[in-house]
Amino acid sequence: MIGGMTDRFVRHLPVGEPSTPFDGSGIPGWDTFPFDGDLRVRSLDPPVLPEPPRNGEDGPESCMICKDETARTVWADEHWMLRHAGGPSAVPVVVLLCPIGHYDLGTLPPERAAELGPMLQRVERAIMSVGGIARVHASKIGDGAAHLHLWFMGRPAGFEQLRGSCLVLWDDVLPKQDETQWRAVLAEVAEALAADGGTVY
Ligand SMILES: [Zn+2]
Repeated sequence: MIGGMTDRFVRHLPVGEPSTPFDGSGIPGWDTFPFDGDLRVRSLDPPVLPEPPRNGEDGPESCMICKDETARTVWADEHWMLRHAGGPSAVPVVVLLCPIGHYDLGTLPPERAAELGPMLQRVERAIMSVGGIARVHASKIGDGAAHLHLWFMGRPAGFEQLRGSCLVLWDDVLPKQDETQWRAVLAEVAEALAADGGTVY
């Protein structure tokens, strides 16, 4: 037992043990891994329960997505909005699809949940429409904010090393597009979405 929680998912983990050299197998051994050189695995901290609240956990009053004080919305209709991530990316496109209402995936009303599949397709098609993109990655993580936000990343065509789940790491370490190009590409994505409804911001 750790802190009274069940140890079912904890007992096999090296909690509190020192950082260890990594043997190079698994993801750090992939051709798509962006880092080189000797690696160590960080020491694993003990679980913290209850977990610290996410942004917006108390409701829309404390939600950065509902307030949109940073004006990140690039397109919206009555129920959905597409937002950027706050600044230029290295990869061609990084955007987030969010419901207008303050819902997480598990609390989306049935009408909104039914719209999600078509919205995923619309966003992928809008990103592909800017050209030069081979694949659109989509993911739901949600550890930072309680308001549902689905990530989309467009991978530039032809870069074998950028294939797969390490794309997010590459985007972090590669040089970013300049602000003018980044905003122009976001506008192209927003306009492609608006062709089937909604408004460009
Ligand atoms: Zn919200």
